[in-house]
Amino acid sequence: MPLDPKRTVAELKELRSLTGDENGAQRVAWTDTWLRAREWFAKKLAELSVEHHYDAAGNNWATLAGESKKSLILGGHLDSVPNGGWLDGALNVLAALEVLRRFASEFNGRPPVTIRLVDWADEEGARFGRSLLGSSAFAGTHSISADRVRTDRNGIKMEDVLRRCGVEMDRFADAGKERQNAAAYLELHIEQGPVLEQLGLPLAVVLGTKGVERHGITFHGQEAHSGSTPMNARRDALAAAAKLALEIRNIARKHPDAVCTMGSLKTFPGIVTAVVGRCEATLDQRDLDARILARMFQEAQDASRRFAEEEKCTVEWSRIWNIEPVPFHPALLELCEQAVREVSGKSHRMPSGPLHDAAEVSRAGIPAVMMFVQSLGGISHNRIEDTREEHLEMSVVALDRLASKTVDWILPT
Ligand SMILES: [Zn+2]
Repeated sequence: MPLDPKRTVAELKELRSLTGDENGAQRVAWTDTWLRAREWFAKKLAELSVEHHYDAAGNNWATLAGESKKSLILGGHLDSVPNGGWLDGALNVLAALEVLRRFASEFNGRPPVTIRLVDWADEEGARFGRSLLGSSAFAGTHSISADRVRTDRNGIKMEDVLRRCGVEMDRFADAGKERQNAAAYLELHIEQGPVLEQLGLPLAVVLGTKGVERHGITFHGQEAHSGSTPMNARRDALAAAAKLALEIRNIARKHPDAVCTMGSLKTFPGIVTAVVGRCEATLDQRDLDARILARMFQEAQDASRRFAEEEKCTVEWSRIWNIEPVPFHPALLELCEQAVREVSGKSHRMPSGPLHDAAEVSRAGIPAVMMFVQSLGGISHNRIEDTREEHLEMSVVALDRLASKTVDWILPT
């Protein structure tokens, strides 16, 4: 079976009609629709002579044994957000399937190295707020005690939901066994942003996933009557927060790929007749360079204190979450660059703002790289998420080329 990128597009459409509705993809992890998607996928795998099993964290593995035990892993995720897009995660899995088919036929079922496909469990974290669940179990970066008590919006415990799908959280760490002999990891993904469309490029090499600093910032002023309090006597917590909301744009703009977002702002008492006495904001800062990220974090803190002082307020910070930047493997970046050039003529290197399973794999010390394919309108996690079919097909060809190059790279090492 030679590589057939058109089949990937057809299978993506098949999956869409099986697991989507008029609002988009409904493959939220641990739901019946997700299980249906996995069943459908298992039937596709059954047509190939590959070993197939679910690991202790619910990740789905298909293995085509090669001459060498060293394995090349191709990954993606069939789960989606509610009302999600048809490509996010699913393209990766189905393109990987096509590459697996090609290896199986080209080498008479026995490629030079072992080729593995993984469909990660619960990449999105849509139901329990815990992203990269399966891949973190694989990587050994998982913290079970913090996660087992998570509940969904109906108060149903994560532990119970997973058990219903045959996954015992106590055994999560066993998924780490799958790391054995892993020599490299590749992941194709839609960009989910507008950059490649703006540049007029179908494909890009992903340099790594950006580190994230995520904090809560509370400004304290003084609640006061909106009619009786003169302007010069106010301690307006919102004024200080508003200055910071504008300043973070300057902080981010000093660096080409940095982003800073104030995504939430709450005022108290939050009524039309009172000066804001307390203002709670959130800040999300991202960059691929750890030093830049640290500098931006420091600058935001300094600015918040300056604005608090100007407005006769005080400010406190509390960390919500953070993760370090994860740069991908230099040798694989080079191979990815070659593959992208061969297929589309031009290449572009860019960091990923969103996190992906590849970051967890890389944190486990396994050489990893990702490839992006253009997203139309930069929209994702939505039913209008889309990519031109010719670009989808190019991405399958490019992933296939990258896989071959990576096999050659694994062999002598
Ligand atoms: Zn994804």
